[in-house]
Amino acid sequence: MDLGIEGRTALVCASSKGLGRACALSLAREGVRVVMSARGADALEEAAAAIRAETGATVTTVAADVTTAEGRARLLAACPQPDILVNNAGGPKPGDFREWSRDDWIKALDANMIAPIELIKATIDGMIQRRFGRIVNITSAAVKMPIDHLGLSNGARAGLTGFVAGLARQVAEHNVTINNLLPGPFETDRLRGTAIATAQKTGKSVEDILEARRMTVPARRLGDPAEFGDACAFLCGNRAGFMTGQNLVLDGGTYPGTL
Ligand code: NAP
Repeated sequence: MDLGIEGRTALVCASSKGLGRACALSLAREGVRVVMSARGADALEEAAAAIRAETGATVTTVAADVTTAEGRARLLAACPQPDILVNNAGGPKPGDFREWSRDDWIKALDANMIAPIELIKATIDGMIQRRFGRIVNITSAAVKMPIDHLGLSNGARAGLTGFVAGLARQVAEHNVTINNLLPGPFETDRLRGTAIATAQKTGKSVEDILEARRMTVPARRLGDPAEFGDACAFLCGNRAGFMTGQNLVLDGGTYPGTL
């Protein structure tokens, strides 16, 4: 399927690894000019070079922290008028809410609620004027099915979800869509890092922990980031113009509800 977005420009945040990188690759395969970002310059350059080599697309990079105003200003200086915005950042730390300070909450809100809202604020009016805009926020399956030790994530991402639900309806008439993609367990560095931490705590092997994780998923496997990237590219395409304000779970069937 031709998504009809060749020549469009995308700003893909937090994209040197994992789900963000997969979104950048899938968009580049569609001929989209991609601006990638992450804090660490080395992994970012390596990812951008690999995507250029595979797709021939124009890929530029900005090493910046998306959770800070200064970082976002640098992203927007490099890509002031994106047609496509993919919001992403690292997830907050796990733990017991009794141990979290106000600063912990502000950090989580900065990363997983305020950064995407600020980038939407800076780019959406241009999308409205050009009568094309696609915004995808990478959130988490925890928005629909809270994970008890990830309260910072459950809370901050729910805030973004509520905000977006209202905004999506205000801009739909201008062919600007806003959707959230909710990953369940995908095989990324983050997921592997969590498995390594659990292995150190429990004495089990990393492979046993990953296998147990796979068995919790009805599909009996972890998600491939490429599947996530392609779902993102579809939402950013012309054909997805009638789809907005949605929260789409990609979790191999883990969420047990009918709707
Ligand atoms: P990942 O493999 O660890 O990759 C994270 C990417 O984000 C890296 O490129 C990282 O590069 C960048 N990044 C992190 N913090 C950043 C910041 N402040 N500013 C700019 N870039 C930043 O993680 P992932 O698994 O793809 O997860 C992406 C998001 O989905 C996270 O919010 C995660 O909580 C959420 N999620 C993931 C899963 C899963 O199974 N993988 C499930 C549910 C939710 P630098 O570190 O160099 O900045």
